[in-house]
Amino acid sequence: MIVIMKAGATAAEIGAVIARVEELGLTPHPIYGENHTVIAVVGEAVALEPDVFQVLSGVETVTRIGHQFKLASRQAKAEDTVIAFNGTTIGGRKLVVMAGPCSVESRSQLLETAQAVKEAGARLLRGGAYKPRTSPYAFQGMGLKGLELLAEAREITGLKIVTEVMTPEAVPLVSQYADILQIGARNMQNYGLLNAVGRTQRPVLLKRGMMSTIQELLMSAEYIMSNGNYKVMLCERGIRTFEPMTRNTFDLNAVPLLKQLSHLPVIADPSHGTGRWDLVAPMAKASIACGADGLIIEVHPQPEVAVSDGAQSLKPEKFAQMMRELGPLAEALGREL
Ligand code: PEP
Ligand code: MN
Repeated sequence: MIVIMKAGATAAEIGAVIARVEELGLTPHPIYGENHTVIAVVGEAVALEPDVFQVLSGVETVTRIGHQFKLASRQAKAEDTVIAFNGTTIGGRKLVVMAGPCSVESRSQLLETAQAVKEAGARLLRGGAYKPRTSPYAFQGMGLKGLELLAEAREITGLKIVTEVMTPEAVPLVSQYADILQIGARNMQNYGLLNAVGRTQRPVLLKRGMMSTIQELLMSAEYIMSNGNYKVMLCERGIRTFEPMTRNTFDLNAVPLLKQLSHLPVIADPSHGTGRWDLVAPMAKASIACGADGLIIEVHPQPEVAVSDGAQSLKPEKFAQMMRELGPLAEALGREL
């Protein structure tokens, strides 16, 4: 942390800051300038709030150096994390595609979708059994029956399963079925839930909140990791802006920035990022081009009758076409689909 004193700060004010730094077990390095005195604070200051110095008399600004996220930081671990689980890996050269319906709706819907996305090259089947809906009157998901159908689809196709868990209490049950636990955008800052998935060793797909910053996303990853679960994937799924023509503004800046700041795999969700099926394939390509390690894509055999997110769901043939187009792009980028 760097503390910059106001011009004309008195020796007593400067002395009080130095004393406070020492009291906190840190080392002060004052630099006395002509107008401003600057005090560099050296030591384990990561848990400190700038306020501890900001409130002192004569202090102008306090700036953090280094990141508040430690375990998720690229500074802590230079090489990309590759998450290995149940016979597959996420991260590294090989891209991953997770695809399937927004909600598990029926056995036939799920199995038909699973077969189609498997044939097109997806490695994981997505599908919500517990759905976080804006309205309490909207379909809330099939619950346990949905989880059982996902397990059956895995049995038949060999696809791994990614599905959302919404409460800490449900973590043990959902973990019995899911290969990857999804934390939805609305729950990105549900710290009780983050702690609960952090206490498991199941990989976690952590979606960025629709009104969350990149820093906040990384701090949420830090919650999971600080509980001992390092198998975290960061997911950009679009943020709310003033633009009404798309459901969200798909913040692709986040992808290369997250790759710079963190060693964790980054997954892009152009389905929720755009809210429009016709934008999904172009934005999936853009996601791979800017460095995403994988995609999560909504696919439905009949989007027009989907109980949730039909407008952004690809029909199986459109998904297959997108996958064919992604192959050569991946190769050109030194990746593999
Ligand atoms: C979903 O994946 O269907 C979903 C609810 O996503 P998000 O949490 O990003 O809105
Ligand atoms: Mn959805």
